[in-house]
Amino acid sequence: MQKKYLMTPGPTPVPAEVLLAQARPMIHHRTPDFSATLMECVEGLKYVFQTKESDVILLACSGTGAMESSIANLFCAGDKVIVARNGKFGDRMVGLAKVYGLEIVDLQYPWTEVVRPADIAEALKANPDARGVIITQSETSSGVLNDVEAVGKIVAAYPECVLIVDSITGIGAVPCMTDAWNLDVVMTGSQKGLMLPPGLAAVTVSPKAWKAYERSTLPKYYFDWMKYKKNLDAQTTPFTPAVSLIIGLGESLKMMREEGIENIIDRHSRLAEATRRGCEALGMKLFAPPEGRGSAVTPVWVPEGVDGKKIVSIMKNKYGVTIAGGQDDYTGRIFRVGHLGYFGDFDIITTLAALEMTLAELGYEFERGAGIKAAEAVFMGEVG
Ligand SMILES: *Cc1c(COP(=O)(O)O)cnc(C)c1O
Repeated sequence: MQKKYLMTPGPTPVPAEVLLAQARPMIHHRTPDFSATLMECVEGLKYVFQTKESDVILLACSGTGAMESSIANLFCAGDKVIVARNGKFGDRMVGLAKVYGLEIVDLQYPWTEVVRPADIAEALKANPDARGVIITQSETSSGVLNDVEAVGKIVAAYPECVLIVDSITGIGAVPCMTDAWNLDVVMTGSQKGLMLPPGLAAVTVSPKAWKAYERSTLPKYYFDWMKYKKNLDAQTTPFTPAVSLIIGLGESLKMMREEGIENIIDRHSRLAEATRRGCEALGMKLFAPPEGRGSAVTPVWVPEGVDGKKIVSIMKNKYGVTIAGGQDDYTGRIFRVGHLGYFGDFDIITTLAALEMTLAELGYEFERGAGIKAAEAVFMGEVG
């Protein structure tokens, strides 16, 4: 037997409490029992998204479905949107906007840079007819954290323009204040910070976003938000929901409420800090810039002369620790350690130990134990 550790930024580990809740015998969704669970989930999600003003809609799809729904529900073909992107998931938003015939003002940055809110202000001045601004809060491909609070302030001054935030790996890892920051649409997926298996997505819709919905003419059926809102008013769903995932969500949200959102975010900052210091102590360089590092995932440059793909495969096959490699241009050049969701200090210690043993096998020179020592210092409150 080999014990397995899932250290990726989605899917993420699922707590036993949640797994057991999902293993209960199936119930019908048109029942008071299911309605009660559904409404508890919506309330719990509002807490996690930090919103009282927005509606929360649950969709049976992965995160990309929620991204697609945000385009289909808010715009008309030919509408202009500003997309600020610095990674793979921002690229996906451009792909989606194109498929639906939107005109794109493309603010493209290298993956190693943060989006500059001032550029968005300028793009809005130059394109006052823009109907939307689209941004990824936590870029999972690069670990970069974009300042959506600053962007929210800028977009709030344009009553006809909605702000769409992909916070799929932001929610539950970093602060994301839907109301306070004027975020019109915020989305997440179940297999990230919500500690569930994949297959469920949640989207917030602000009053301003509902106005955009009213004028939108893009085709939508399964993802038509109004169908979900009307049914939710009657404590139900328009279609057969992902019953077991929603029951599991009830359990994971209970755990999140017990810990408290501020404590959850603090725990993630600590795990991220320990991972960063651990990797730096091994002489490796972090991929994301100091001014924009998120807490969901830590991408690290593969050291010179080391085969990056081998780091990932040895860790997985020999030590049972699954981390993620780089994507697109960064395949084999970076590796990414996920610490989003159901993670504690010793998951990081375990991962750094496996990383040290792997790097030693690959002939990389470093001081053995230095990574673990640096992480311990963070966990003991000596640094960070
Ligand atoms: C995971 C993720 C998505 C959605 O991907 P799915 O595979 O469809 O769940 C979107 N954006 C970001 C930033 C993500 O991390």
